[in-house]
Amino acid sequence: MPLNEELKNILTDTERFLKQHQELYGDMIFVPKTDPVFASTTGLSHSVNTAPADPDIDLFGKPVQPTTIHLKTGEATLPSFPNEPWTKIKNLEELNNAINTCMKCGLGKTRIKFVFGVGNPKAEIVVVGEAPGADEDEQGEPFVGRAGQLLNKILEAIQLKREEVFICNILKCRPPNNRDPQAEEIDCCEPYLWKQLEIIKPKIILCAGRIAGQSLLKTNSSLTLLRGKVHDYRGIPLMVTYHPAALLRNPNWKRPCWEDMQQFRKLYDEMKSGKS
Ligand code: URA
Repeated sequence: MPLNEELKNILTDTERFLKQHQELYGDMIFVPKTDPVFASTTGLSHSVNTAPADPDIDLFGKPVQPTTIHLKTGEATLPSFPNEPWTKIKNLEELNNAINTCMKCGLGKTRIKFVFGVGNPKAEIVVVGEAPGADEDEQGEPFVGRAGQLLNKILEAIQLKREEVFICNILKCRPPNNRDPQAEEIDCCEPYLWKQLEIIKPKIILCAGRIAGQSLLKTNSSLTLLRGKVHDYRGIPLMVTYHPAALLRNPNWKRPCWEDMQQFRKLYDEMKSGKS
């Protein structure tokens, strides 16, 4: 193989690895404790020797503490709505009409369609993703592309139909080239989601992916720390699992995602039967 092509392959593999790594751990480096090859090639042998087995290690080899903030109604840390007229609206249709021309951040200029959300306005379950992709931007509906088809299958695996739940995203407009949402974009857009949740009043929330979980819970904990637990979002139980797009890139995560979904279904059933 010509050298150029070989280099290109190595770069593609590295990019894929880093994307998967970021998906799981966020913006921190996980140095495997027992990998002498990694240690010798990175010069990080001191942190390798002292690092605890927990995979959530920061850049300096220190364990990252879970930083989940529980947002209960009435707590001082509760982020509040901007002082804007749409915050008084009481139903989803009116809310959509009031906000779908939003130009608060730069994504207003580049979007094709504003992706408000779709599904049962009285849903007991709300699924929150990250941001629209190209298909969603074109059709104005969340999770309609490949990741969306997988999300439908994930829901079906726990006996839920797409139409039964409400599906939306942290961002209502597509970031160019599907890059990660920026902090200012989340700050502008997330209040719309809080309002949707206030109107729908779901029994339980499922976050698809690290970014949705981190945004709603106001934490920078990694997906590894966020998944497998029941969090509290303003009094509503919230669980976080893998983003379906991440599962398309790494099918090995389908199994742990399935386990998360079993836990999610069990919790939902218990809540319905009044046990929790
Ligand atoms: N990924 C998301 O997070 N949301 C969508 O709507 C589509 C893909």
